[in-house]
Amino acid sequence: MNEFGLIERLKVFQNLSPEVPVGIGDDAAVLRLDARRYQLLTTDMLVEDVHFTRDVLPRQVGYKAMACSISDIAAMGGLPQTAVISIGVPGNIRQGYILQIYKGLHTCARAFGVSLVGGDTVRAPKFVINVALLGQVEKKYLVLRSGARPGDSIFVTGPLGGSLRSGRHLRFIPRVKEARFLVAHFKPGAMMDISDGLAGDLGHILRASRVGACLQEQAVPCYPGVNTRQALTDGEDFELLFTLTPAQSARLAARGPLSPLAACRCIGTITADCGRLLLQGADGRCRRLAARGFVHF
Ligand SMILES: [Mg+2]
Repeated sequence: MNEFGLIERLKVFQNLSPEVPVGIGDDAAVLRLDARRYQLLTTDMLVEDVHFTRDVLPRQVGYKAMACSISDIAAMGGLPQTAVISIGVPGNIRQGYILQIYKGLHTCARAFGVSLVGGDTVRAPKFVINVALLGQVEKKYLVLRSGARPGDSIFVTGPLGGSLRSGRHLRFIPRVKEARFLVAHFKPGAMMDISDGLAGDLGHILRASRVGACLQEQAVPCYPGVNTRQALTDGEDFELLFTLTPAQSARLAARGPLSPLAACRCIGTITADCGRLLLQGADGRCRRLAARGFVHF
C-alpha cells in the first residue's frame, strides 16, 4: 500500500462537523472562523532515516519541518499563524542537537510571523519532528485543489527539479508572499504546493477537479543541470502549482519584472479529458504521462 492508497482508506474515519467545510484531501483542513475568514490547519512530520539523516545539520531539519507546514498554508492562499511542535527523541541524542533543531524551527517561524506556542516531547527509537500549524485565510481568497476548469492555464511559481540532490529542500522559502499576492490580485481556480513532484501533484488537482491536463515539455522551468523528467518527478520543490482562466493568465503575462510573480511560468493547459495527463514535446507530439511523483512511503 502506498501513502495515497492508505490516506484513501483512512478517509472513512473522517468525521466532519458543519464547522469543517473542507477535511482530508487538500493542503490543509478548512475550519469555520467568522463571517469573513476561515481557519486553516495542517500537520507535517519528518522522521529520521526516512526524511533526513543524522548527518544533516539539525538547524536545517528544524527549518524544513516548519517550512513544509507553512508551504501548505500558503497553498490554500492563507497566512500561517500558530504552531505546536512535537518531537520524538532517541536516547543517544545530545541536548545540543535538539536545541539546534529548535533554532531552525524558530528562525523559520520568526521569518513568517508564526508563534510557537507549545508541543510535546517523547522518547522514540528514531528522531521524529512534527509541526502542527494553524493559519487564516479570508473566505474570498481560499483556494482548493478542486477548482481547475478546462481551458485554464497551469502555472508554477519557479523552477523545479534536483531539490534533494542540491540540498535546496533544506532551505527552500515557502511561497507565502507569492500566494498572498496571487489571491489578492488574481482568482486562481486551483492551487497546491509541489512536494511529491509536479506530475504527481498535478494528478491530485486533476482528480479533485475532475479534469485532465496537457503540459508543454519546453515550458517546464528546470534548475540548471536538471532535465524535464527530473523537474516533473523529483519532488520537494515547494513551489506553488496553480491554475488561472485565460483572461487572468493574460493579465499575469502582462506583469512587470519586479512583480512577486515574476518567476511564474505557464506550463500547460487544463483539459476536459478527466484524469489524463499529457506531455507535449518540442515536435508537437503528445505522450501520456504517469501522474506519479515522489512517494515518501
Ligand atoms: Mg501540500
